[in-house]
Amino acid sequence: MSVEYTDAPAIQPASGEAGKMPCPYCGHLLPKDAQSCDRCDWTRSATTETAEGKASDAVAVLLSIIPGLGHIYKGHKLAGFLWMAGAVPAGIFVLLAAIASAGFGIGLFFFYLIAVMLHAYAVDDRVVPPTLDEGEEY
Ligand SMILES: [Zn+2]
Repeated sequence: MSVEYTDAPAIQPASGEAGKMPCPYCGHLLPKDAQSCDRCDWTRSATTETAEGKASDAVAVLLSIIPGLGHIYKGHKLAGFLWMAGAVPAGIFVLLAAIASAGFGIGLFFFYLIAVMLHAYAVDDRVVPPTLDEGEEY
């Protein structure tokens, strides 16, 4: 009775290919520290950037410090401009309220900012909301 080794060790790469890596785009063998491929347009920096192409919710919320910018960042250009346009009457209203209430009304603008940030966080596709029920008059 003979024993067969079915789990033979994997084929070792040729010593000449040590320190090399295939190009992730075209598979061309490149030096391991290559910064770009000479066969295609692959570059090392391109792979470390956001390859998924999806907008970050956190960045959108941060950008919403300026109302609408977070939406535009996510591709909701129309919604972003609507939020920006809404910020103008909201800002005027808050300014008047602040004058009338000796500065207390400034806090009202934070409600608008919070609403913008929550909305910028919630949206993650390019569907523009049908209505903006802000209760504001233009
Ligand atoms: Zn390549």
